[in-house]
Amino acid sequence: MELLKDKVAVVTGGTRGIGLAIVKKFLDNGATVVLCGSRQESADKAVAELKEKNSDYKVSGIAPKLSNSEVMYDALTKVVDEYGKVDILVNNAGISAREGIEEYEDEDFDKILELNVKAVFAGTKAAVPLMKKAGGGVILNTSSMVSIYGQPSGCGYPASKFAVNGLTKSLARELGKDNIRVNAVAPGVTRTDMVAALPEEMVARIVADIPLGRVGEPEDVANAFLFLASDMASYITGAVLSVDGATQV
Ligand code: NAD
Repeated sequence: MELLKDKVAVVTGGTRGIGLAIVKKFLDNGATVVLCGSRQESADKAVAELKEKNSDYKVSGIAPKLSNSEVMYDALTKVVDEYGKVDILVNNAGISAREGIEEYEDEDFDKILELNVKAVFAGTKAAVPLMKKAGGGVILNTSSMVSIYGQPSGCGYPASKFAVNGLTKSLARELGKDNIRVNAVAPGVTRTDMVAALPEEMVARIVADIPLGRVGEPEDVANAFLFLASDMASYITGAVLSVDGATQV
């Protein structure tokens, strides 16, 4: 069954990792997808690779500055011009941090908040008038298990994901009247480039704390996004859905 038949979705950070898995999952479920990369070349490359896998995929790529709501409004308006609407926006692009507080540079703190938080605000601000005009929509944000537990270094990252949860819950309350659902998925440790960058012993220590005995796969996370994006979740808004194998850190 195609859960997103005839839907149009925009997925930020869609060139690799969790975002790419979401893009594939949405395409396999009948959606038209516009993926956003940090550069046009990486967006084009991801689109070309997807089309090589399946020439029927309705996918294109853009690279707008995610933290600027005017730029995002222009980008999403172009999507509406081309495909008729934006039903689903996935604010997924994100970066992590590991510095201790004493080494943490002010500009690095700004950088993480700009992408992980301000881009969620800007993308949502841009999408809302277009979704309202169309009678509703779905906004999905990528949070993290660190939004529940914090983490012992790189405090900007959990701070940003606590903020993502705050945006999710607040905007769900604000936008319910407009038939716009806002939810987040909080992945645990998931096998992407972000995790490949971690020292092996750190990953082994993390797995020891996961009752399901393994790290998550991008597809585990994408399945949760699919559910929340679909009409199966029509009465779910303001939720932060953990996809972390019951990790207790
Ligand atoms: P990744 O590094 O594999 O991919 C990050 C994506 O974000 C890429 O598509 C990249 O192009 C995009 N991006 C990075 N900087 C950007 C910028 N300045 N402007 C625009 N786009 C930019 O990471 P991932 O693991 O797939 O992470 C995706 C999301 O999942 C992030 O929000 C991350 O915080 C979250 N997350 C990841 C894990 C994990 O274990 N991998 C766990 C919890 C949450």
